[in-house]
Amino acid sequence: DPTPHLELNDGSCIPQLGFGVFLIDQGDTRETVATALSTGYRHVDTAAAYGNEAQVGEAVRGSGEQVYVTTKYFNPGDDHGRSDATAAFGASFDRLGLDHIDLYLIHWPVRAGGGFVESWRALTQLRTDAPLRSIGVSNFSSAQLERIVDATGVTPAVNQVELHPYFQQTALRRYHAQRGIATEAWGPLGQGNRHAEKVLADPVLARIGRAHGRTAGQVVIRWHLQIGTIVIPKSGDPSRIRENFAVFDFELTADDMAAIAALDRGGRNGPDPDTYDFPK
Ligand code: NAD
Repeated sequence: DPTPHLELNDGSCIPQLGFGVFLIDQGDTRETVATALSTGYRHVDTAAAYGNEAQVGEAVRGSGEQVYVTTKYFNPGDDHGRSDATAAFGASFDRLGLDHIDLYLIHWPVRAGGGFVESWRALTQLRTDAPLRSIGVSNFSSAQLERIVDATGVTPAVNQVELHPYFQQTALRRYHAQRGIATEAWGPLGQGNRHAEKVLADPVLARIGRAHGRTAGQVVIRWHLQIGTIVIPKSGDPSRIRENFAVFDFELTADDMAAIAALDRGGRNGPDPDTYDFPK
């Protein structure tokens, strides 16, 4: 297994490179994840909201490999907090059909109802009671992290947030480092062509790639590995799935890293969790 592992604050280890499955259709997920696993990925990031947990589970079971699996509690419905999170975990666990879940995240810091503080309390209980190794959150600001830690005394192992060369989350990463929270990057490639600002079309990344005989995508994934984020690129294309995994045999120089650091431009693509709440 060529993938480096990071130790989380609860003592468990996570493969630093994983495979994301957002927007992979149910009908394609089993085969796409099987391709990723045969390429060598040993970590898959799904969510109840992606509608493809069952197909992820089929691919993982079919591979016979030990695979680190993350799924997420999405709670913008009417019911929030403790009982809903517990029921949602059970449903995800059943759909995946694995003997345990490695990492369970609150997908978004919903405020309504019992809100994310009660959901976090539920996750801390689930980690004790359920076949679940680690708990964390996603899309939390430092103020929201502060609230759940103050309320429960339990620090999330991971905060999964939007993070790429145009939106580097420098302040939040510093906060995570102080608190022992691992930073996981979603949209690590800037989400391909979904947005007007196309990270992978940046000429600086192309120039660095040429110097190493790599693509812009490989340069960006390598940058994530070297700044210490957990990175979960998604692709439905077998050649790109392999390309995105071929990142363990080269290293970006300090000059390369500085040139990428200079690309940061506040280019957030998703909503800002400090101001946005999903409608009920
Ligand atoms: P991403 O940055 O991984 O971009 C994926 C897109 O980039 C692909 O669809 C493809 O168009 C393109 N691409 C992939 N590899 C490429 C390559 N080598 N060359 C050129 N183009 C390439 O975006 P993402 O899928 O949104 O994020 C990754 C994962 O993060 C998701 O699949 C999901 O698991 C997770 N995620 C979590 C949240 C959250 O709120 N927690 C939100 C979005 C995504």
